[in-house]
Amino acid sequence: MAPHDDQPQVNDDSIASESHGKPISNIVIFIAMHTEALALVNRFQLIEDHDSLFPEGVPWVRYHGMYKDLHINIVQPGKDPALGVDGVGTVSASLVTYAAIQSLKPDLIINAGTAGGFKAKGAAIGDVFLTSEVAFHDRRIPIPVFDLYGVGKRQAFSTPNILKELNLKIGRLSTGDSLDMSAQDEASITANDATIKDMEGAAVAYVAELLKVPVIFLKAVTDIVDGEKPTAEEFLQNLAAVTAALDEAVAKVVDFINGKCLTKL
Ligand code: SAH
Repeated sequence: MAPHDDQPQVNDDSIASESHGKPISNIVIFIAMHTEALALVNRFQLIEDHDSLFPEGVPWVRYHGMYKDLHINIVQPGKDPALGVDGVGTVSASLVTYAAIQSLKPDLIINAGTAGGFKAKGAAIGDVFLTSEVAFHDRRIPIPVFDLYGVGKRQAFSTPNILKELNLKIGRLSTGDSLDMSAQDEASITANDATIKDMEGAAVAYVAELLKVPVIFLKAVTDIVDGEKPTAEEFLQNLAAVTAALDEAVAKVVDFINGKCLTKL
C-alpha cells in the first residue's frame, strides 16, 4: 500500500473548533441497507422513531437511544415506496444525511456499510476498512475543473487513534451508483487509487462537508471486485457474515468514541 494511504491526512479546519474541546455526545450512523443495520439496532437497544423528524410520507427511518454517554441515531433511506427494496445509492444517501444533520446536529457522522474490495490492493472478504479518502467514479465531466468537481475527492475526518487501537485496515473508497463495474468505472477507480468501492460514501462526504460535520467511514468487504465470482452473487452470499464483522467494528468504534472529544479520535 502506498505510504500516503496509511493515514487520513488532514482534518477539516472549518469544523467548529468549540466542538473539538468537549466529549462527543451525539452521533449519526448512516447505513444504507436494513440488513446491515439490524444487529447494531439490537446491540445498542435503539428504538424506531415513529414521531418522525423527517418529512411526512418519506420512507426514511431513524433508530435512536442512549448508549453509555452517547446519543446514537442510526438513519436509513428505508424501502423504496414503489419497489420495496432498500434505497441504496447516492441520491437517497445525500437526502437522508442532509435531513439527519439538519434535525439532529450530530457531532460526528459514521457511514457504515458493505463494499466491494480489490484483492490487488490488499482487500479480503470480511475485512473492515476505515477510509482515508473518498471520491466518485461515475461522474465523468471532461471539462477543466468540472472534471475535478465530478470526481469530488474528499478526506475523511482523521482518526489515527481509532486506526491504531482497533487495528482496522485503511484504504481509499470510490463511490458510484452501480453495483457492477463498467470498464470506464474501473479506470476511474484505478485513478482514485481505491481499495474498496461502494454506492454511498462520497455522497455522504459531500453533505457532511457542506454542513461542516466530521465524517468517518467503516466499510466491510462483501465481495471481491477483481476476483472470479459474479459480484451480486458473492455479495448476497457473504452479506450476513460480513454484516456481523461490520457490527463488531462499529461497536468497537462507538465504545472508543464514548467520552472522548473529536481531537482524541
Ligand atoms: N442485490 C442487493 C443490492 C444491494 S446494493 C440486495 O438487494 O441485497 C449493494 C449495497 O452494498 C450498496 O449499499 C453498496 O454501498 C454496497 N456494496 C457492496 N458491494 C459493493 C460493490 N461491489 N460495489 C458497489 N457497492 C457495493
